[in-house]
Formats: sequence, C-alpha cells, structure tokens
Amino acid sequence: MQKFQDLGLNESLLNAISDMGFKAPSEVQEKAIPILLSKETDLVALAQTGTGKTAAFGFPLIQKINAEKKFTQGLILSPTRELCLQITNEIKLYSKYIKGLNTVAIYGGASITEQASQIKRGAQIIVATPGRMKDMIGRNMIDISKIDYCILDEADEMLNMGFFEDIQDILSNTPKEKNTWLFSATMPKEVAIIAKKFMNSPDEITVGSKNEGASTVAHEYYIASGRDRYPVLKRLADANPEIFSVVFCRTKRDTQRVAEKLIEDGYNAGALHGDLSQNQRDLVMGAFRKKQIHMLVATDVAARGIDVDDITHVINYQLPDEIETYTHRSGRTGRAGKEGVSMVIVTKSEERKVRTIEKIIKKKFTLKPIPTGIEICEKQLFYLAHKIKDTEINHQVDEYLPKIHEVLDGLDREELIKKIVSVEFTRFFDYYNKTQDISSPESSGESNVNPNSIRYFINVGRRDGYTWGSLKDFIRELTQLSKDDVYKVDVKDTFSFFNTDPEQMPKILEVFTDLKIDGRFVNVEVSSKPEDGSGRRSRKKDRGDRSDRGGRGDRRERSDRSDRSDRGKKFSDSKPGRRFSGSKDKKFSGSKSKPKSKGSRKGFS
Ligand code: AMP
Repeated sequence: MQKFQDLGLNESLLNAISDMGFKAPSEVQEKAIPILLSKETDLVALAQTGTGKTAAFGFPLIQKINAEKKFTQGLILSPTRELCLQITNEIKLYSKYIKGLNTVAIYGGASITEQASQIKRGAQIIVATPGRMKDMIGRNMIDISKIDYCILDEADEMLNMGFFEDIQDILSNTPKEKNTWLFSATMPKEVAIIAKKFMNSPDEITVGSKNEGASTVAHEYYIASGRDRYPVLKRLADANPEIFSVVFCRTKRDTQRVAEKLIEDGYNAGALHGDLSQNQRDLVMGAFRKKQIHMLVATDVAARGIDVDDITHVINYQLPDEIETYTHRSGRTGRAGKEGVSMVIVTKSEERKVRTIEKIIKKKFTLKPIPTGIEICEKQLFYLAHKIKDTEINHQVDEYLPKIHEVLDGLDREELIKKIVSVEFTRFFDYYNKTQDISSPESSGESNVNPNSIRYFINVGRRDGYTWGSLKDFIRELTQLSKDDVYKVDVKDTFSFFNTDPEQMPKILEVFTDLKIDGRFVNVEVSSKPEDGSGRRSRKKDRGDRSDRGGRGDRRERSDRSDRSDRGKKFSDSKPGRRFSGSKDKKFSGSKSKPKSKGSRKGFS
C-alpha cells in the first residue's frame, strides 16, 4: 500500500492529512494525485461518492494554487448546496496550514451579496452550484476569467439535474487553456459529451469498474406484492434495530406519505424532498446528522450530496426509473471503508430489473425472505439484552436506589430480567403476534404446503373490515374446519384468497353455495389465479362458475340458518352488488396496534 508521502504532496498538506487521521490514500487518491501533480492535464475520473474523491482533486488543487495571489484560480462545480458546503469544508481542512488561501462557497438559498463580498475579499478557490454561479457571473460579481483549474464534481448528477446549459455557460467564461478535472460516479452519454466537448485528451482513471458499486455494500432484495411495500419496510427496519438509513422513494408524494406513516407508527423518521423549504430541509438534515432521525425518506434529487458516513442501510422503497440512479443510492452507504447494506423492495414482475442492475454494478443481489414476526421479536429481544449490558450506569440513580429496591422488593433476578426486557419487547410481540407474516410471492411454494392445495377466491376483503385473522375465523366458524385446515389467507381490498387441502373443497363449496348474509351474497369460488392472488379471477371463469351453480339469479337466500344470520351483522350495506363498508364487529376485525418501538420523539416531515 502506498503512503501519502509517496504521492508528491507537500509538507503543509501532509500535516493536515495527518491531523485528519487519514492513514493511507484511497484508490482514487492513489491514482489521481500523482497524475494531477506531475503535469498540467485534463482528467476524467470515474469514482463513487465516499471513495475519497474530494481529496483526490482537493490535494493537487491546493498544492498547485498560488496562495499569495488573491484572484480566483480554481473553480469546483457541484450539483447541490449540501455537497458544495461539504467540499468547501473539506478543502478548508486540507488547506489549514496554507496561509492566505481562501475557499468560498457559492450556492442558492443564501444571501448573494454576502457571498459576493466574501469573494471580493479574495477567494483563490470557489466551490459553487451551477445555478448561483451563473447568476453571479451575470451580475459581474465573480471573475473566473483567469482560473487554471475547473473541477466538475458528480458530473452525472449535475447533468441529471438539468445543469447542462448552465455548465456550458459557466465554462464559456473560463480560459481555454485551463485544466478540467471531471469526477463522476457513472458515465452516461451526456457526461461523455461534456468530456468530449470541453476537454483535451484527458487522462482517465477508474476506481473499480464503470458504474460499479462500492465493494463494502451488500445488495439484497425482497419480493413483495406492491401493497405490502410499507409493511415490508417496517419489517426491514424492525429486523435491524440499529438501523440508520436513507429510504428512497420515486416521487415527492410517496416520500412524504411514507415518512408520515413511519412517524405515525412511532419511528424516528423524516422526509426530504423538493416541496420542502430550504429551512425545512436544513432542519431534517441537521436532525439526521445528529441521528435524531433514523430513517430519512428521500427523493433522489433531494438526497443528492448527502454525505453522512455511517449510514447502515439504504432502502429502495421503489426502484429508481433510471437504473444508473441505483449506483448513487447504494453509494450513500458503505462509505469511508464501512460496511453497508442496500435493500430493494420489488414486486415479482420487477425482479428482472434487479438482474439489469446486477449487470451494471457488477455485483450480485441476494434474494432474502421478508423477516417473520418471530425473527423480528428475537432480534429485538437480543438487541435489548445487549443494550442493557452495554449501557453505562448513570450514577445519578444511586441516591434513589433504596427507594427503587423497595418498589422492586420480592422480585428475584430471573423475574426482574424478564420484566426489564418485557418493557420494550412486549410492544413488538403484541404487534407481530397479531400480524400475519408476509410471504414473498416467490415463496408461495413452501414445502409444508400441500402441493395439491386448493386456492379459493372469496368476495369479501379489507373494506369489509376483515384482516387475515378475522377472515380465517369467519371461514372456520362457518365450515367448522380446524385452525390448520384454512391457510394462506390473503386479504385484498374488496376480495380475498385462502387455501384448504383438496379434501375440504366439497365442504367449502357446499357451505358457501348461495350463502347470503344481510342481503349480500358471500361468494367462494376456486381461484384460477396463481397463489399470490395479485389479480382477480378471469371474468370468463367467474361466469362459468356461476352458470355451473345456476347463476346469481337462481340463488336462494340462506338466512334461515341461524349461525349465518348472526354473521350477517357484519355487513353494513345490504344492497347486493354494491361494495359494502367496514365491519364494526370487534370479534372479527384484526388488531390495529402498532409497535411504538422507536422512541417517542417525533420526526420531521
Ligand atoms: P468523499 O468521497 O470525498 O466524499 O470522501 C468520503 C469521506 O472519506 C470523507 O469523510 C473524507 O473525509 C474521508 N476520506 C477521504 N480520504 C480518506 C482517506 N485516505 N482515509 C480515510 N478517510 C478518507
């Protein structure tokens, strides 16, 4: 491994590097620094965020600039205000031993006159977002006509954000003979166009292979029906008690909605998207940095430039439209040599997109089962036990100990341990004990399920107030089948599915033939759809089944059966053919309890 001393860096920089605690150069630094120091050249560097690229261009830039001259010699363009501030901050740290070197950040949403006066005082290095930069050039507040170095950082992001023309305008105000260093995580054709148009036979370096994800990131995917995305997200969070994550959604609306639901469910979550004011975004980012927020739900645009080093998980609530965006998302974790996990929630039909991403990032995804309630409870329990063990004792409690002993008097060690862990654990247990596990459509062929099992369609669902548990009870009570006889109950909005072994089929069909409850037919038919139940039966089959049994018009009301007329109380709209609204029947409605597990602090949204 090379040392910083071998790269040709001067004493002031080496001292600053040592202050920062960097032990050895990263790959991009090892490759870029010697080239940039040894000659005047253009450079195209393909490197992810988190690989140390700021220093890869920052060190040579600082070393090459003449701090005794006050005019602007280096310009760094970055896509977001967030990244602009981070780069400025890093450059200031790297150049702290270089007297007279000034670095100024130029970005929107802050006072332009203040920024102009900072530049007037002398700024050898300007770090800017394209919009504000163009604005200031237009107002003659900035002179970049004598710069020697121009760095385009996260070039792909800048172009994604529609800055092509601004960049072109800005570059046209710079001297032709300057050097341009372009850093990009991916190489879409727009970036190649910029490189071709504005650069002169650039040197090229690649860290990893093009578009490749960081090697410290594990990629996982979970198959779920579209409707289960949110419960799956919750399970992923609950199964990882120490999660510190960015959750990516495709739209601002989804971002806001998911964040609100998480907050409502007791998680420390916050939303970050373009409909928020700069002030709101700053608050959310501040809270995220301080780890008051554990789940930052964000759009791709808003999350650009997030530079928080210890993000444990990136969760793709939905896959991005542009596959290349996945590289940026997953690059938010596994930074600075740390390990990270990028999780993707996909429907069965989106699975092929995962294969496409694998080809681009040259990494394999692992298909993971959705954590079950029992697994989550176990994880939480052991997390809790370790947390108790690792908690530093706060001696402020000492003076209260005699009184506490009085309160807890009579409890032995075993009982006390059980009670302590139950304080937190019961909330998870209660929730998951009442909640059906989500099986991936993928895993529908579980080995313990009879391969000849019959799948039924029933025309009642969530809107009638059913949960899987209450619907199972309802079917069992009518058919007198046992708990294990009715399984794979899958409640949809207005209809549901369930399974029995083939020998139960005659009974099921018999009980549900012409069954009318409160004026409404409760109809059960053998489903022609696969078991994920994502769609209704075909209309053809529907009609076929009905005609087999005499058609709707021939059905007789069966309310003479006392047990069924009781059930009839469930339905509040008795008009046949119309959707009926939610049941108020406590006995049948499932639990709505949620684990308020993530502390009581409200998130930001
Ligand atoms: P960047 O890719 O420039 O956003 O850098 C990611 C993080 O890694 C920043 O927090 C840097 O301070 C840090 N970093 C940069 N170079 C090194 C290095 N050689 N050793 C350790 N950390 C580094």
